[in-house]
Amino acid sequence: MHEYPYWWDTVPALRLRPEDAGTMTPPVAGGERATDEHHIGSQESAIEPGSRFDVVIVGAGYTGLAAGRHLARAGASVLIVDREQVGWGASSRNGGQVLTGLKLDPATLVARYGESRARQLFDAASASLERLESLIAQESIACEYRRSGHLQAAHKPAHFEAFRREQALLSRVFHHRVELVSRGDQRSELGSDAYYGVIVDERSGALNPARYVYGLSLAARRAGAQIASHVAVDRVRRDARGWTVATTRGEIHSRDVLMATNGYTNGASPALRRRFIPVGSYIVATEPLRPSEAAAVLPRCRMAFDSKHFLYYFRLTSDSRLLFGGRAEFTRPSVATTRRAAEILRNGLAAIFPELADKSIEYAWGGNVAFTRDQLPRAGTLNGSGDGLFFAGGYCGHGIAMATCLGELVARRMAGERIDHPLFDDRFAAIPLYTGRPWFLPLVGAYYRVKDWIQ
Ligand SMILES: Cc1cc2nc3c(=O)[nH]c(=O)nc-3n(C[C@H](O)[C@H](O)[C@H](O)COP(=O)(O)OP(=O)(O)OC[C@H]3O[C@@H](n4cnc5c(N)ncnc54)[C@H](O)[C@@H]3O)c2cc1C
Repeated sequence: MHEYPYWWDTVPALRLRPEDAGTMTPPVAGGERATDEHHIGSQESAIEPGSRFDVVIVGAGYTGLAAGRHLARAGASVLIVDREQVGWGASSRNGGQVLTGLKLDPATLVARYGESRARQLFDAASASLERLESLIAQESIACEYRRSGHLQAAHKPAHFEAFRREQALLSRVFHHRVELVSRGDQRSELGSDAYYGVIVDERSGALNPARYVYGLSLAARRAGAQIASHVAVDRVRRDARGWTVATTRGEIHSRDVLMATNGYTNGASPALRRRFIPVGSYIVATEPLRPSEAAAVLPRCRMAFDSKHFLYYFRLTSDSRLLFGGRAEFTRPSVATTRRAAEILRNGLAAIFPELADKSIEYAWGGNVAFTRDQLPRAGTLNGSGDGLFFAGGYCGHGIAMATCLGELVARRMAGERIDHPLFDDRFAAIPLYTGRPWFLPLVGAYYRVKDWIQ
């Protein structure tokens, strides 16, 4: 079993190294990597101690690259640094499910914020899908994007009743159409009897996340942004002319800084660390299935997840593997937690698809998802901490489209545009009694396990 993301083997040009996959903070490797014509390469030579840029972006995932592309196109001198390789974070590890809506379900959105704001938030998520699709088309990014649709499977009969209410609410408040398929007919969508009916949303999409982050990095580079891998930012400090950024390659200077570190935010931004909660999410990938087996599991090749709090999510890959993921361990990925999670997911997969129980698991990996306290993403400046550090993140596991969109929007704001967006928040508050070590996660995990059991 390979203990690194399956996706990494589909994009050799990214040069993500298997041995780096399991650790949270592997040692920073110095030195220029070998390059070839397809490899994004690393422009570490752009970093001379004392050099000055208009914008320094910390983190080379979807957020940082989308922002860097936009700013470079607007004429700014941009340096994007990552302490690992381009795309090493969640952007090359995720499930590739480009889903409608937000992490919060429609009923919770309406109950918490009222219909008008709930609609604004839902529409912002829909707009992010449109922006993702147009960017992929505009930059001709070969990332296997398609409008696959998604399905959510009811873990209990009561959950299917809740789907009926959700369908009505989606139609009335959000003007969004979904279909219901009852348990008796669900094999047309899902080859499992473990669920009690499904809700189908045709609008969602699918992509290969590593191909997407690779294509986005090439687009940012073409626009003129410089990208340096294996350069960690240790600290940022406001000074008279802007910012001094202390990196492992020396101090550099910039007018603005964007923290695009999401679930991997560390001590380089203590303020952001007090606002994002990193939670582990894990995935296993089977050996390629036979065409008849793949067609039985997900006949329409949709993206899928279930209605539990400790949910399973799954999909097929272009070479017919079943990717099966979940929050099997609440803690952050390490070699030990990834192996434990792989075992839990293997058992889960066998329970949902008994006919695949003897398939070998060829890949297992994990990554950090950044949660916010209210489960809404955010972008803006950390003014509450007394400075003007820009940030975007907290996508709560729905980040492919939203990170692309908020990365670009925060870049437009940095370039001087006024942005009116429901997820922009310059007063994003720190979480009380939290400094970045999520001591409460075992309690939260236990709480949701009990909820899954009784609800
Ligand atoms: C297992 C898993 C499954 C997921 N599934 C889905 C899905 O199916 N659909 C969906 O929409 N979303 C999904 N997500 C969420 C999605 O992947 C993220 O929201 C998105 O990739 C966030 O992109 P980002 O650029 O903000 O952060 P990342 O891609 O995590 O990039 C942050 C980068 O910052 C770098 N960094 C951190 N600190 C420093 C520092 N001090 N100096 C230099 N560099 C630094 C890191 O090395 C990292 O590369 C999933 C996430 C995980 C982990």
